[in-house]
Amino acid sequence: MYFKRIEMHGFKSFADPVTIEFHQGITCVVGPNGSGKSNISDAIRWVLGEQSPKMLRGGKMEEVIFAGTASRKSRGMAEVTLVIDNAEGTLPIEYQEVAITRRMFRSGESEYSINNHTCRLRDIRELIMDTGIGVDGYSLIGQGKISDIISNKTESRREIFEEAAGIVMYRTKKAESERK
Ligand code: ATP
Ligand code: MG
Repeated sequence: MYFKRIEMHGFKSFADPVTIEFHQGITCVVGPNGSGKSNISDAIRWVLGEQSPKMLRGGKMEEVIFAGTASRKSRGMAEVTLVIDNAEGTLPIEYQEVAITRRMFRSGESEYSINNHTCRLRDIRELIMDTGIGVDGYSLIGQGKISDIISNKTESRREIFEEAAGIVMYRTKKAESERK
């Protein structure tokens, strides 16, 4: 399983549609300060369901929508699609390629879809649970995360290992059934 590409339209500095292809192995993004490198990792975080504007380096969620520049109008919607290779069937879905999309309008409305089928955020969470790619997973290591992990309480460190071991799904289902 690996990220194949990301498509962004109206997300932060990406006013026009932009597709970035990734390949297996390491991808490095280089560019001058302020050119949008971190906006790409913000887009990955956002499409995977991030709900905290702070984690996206903003104050309000609306700030993910292209705000316009002196010469360009702002946009009314941000859209990001992350395409994941699922040839090995790591994600519990029959598709070889899984496209997760999130849209947000200035009105505050959000939409999610998996391979163009509208779904709930919860469906996306369940799909990526235990794979390490969720926003709470360990595949998105933001600045400061390493020192957090090292200085974490043992319980929080345990959560990282539980995600890696693939047992978060069972813990969540157990908690849900206990609530019912
Ligand atoms: P550095 O090398 O300094 O880390 P970077 O390449 O990571 O830079 P980013 O932080 O990704 O740069 O991009 C910052 C740019 O994105 C700024 O110019 C900022 O104005 C622009 N930007 C962020 N949000 C929006 C938005 N909603 N609309 C338009 N532009 C935005
Ligand atoms: Mg940066």
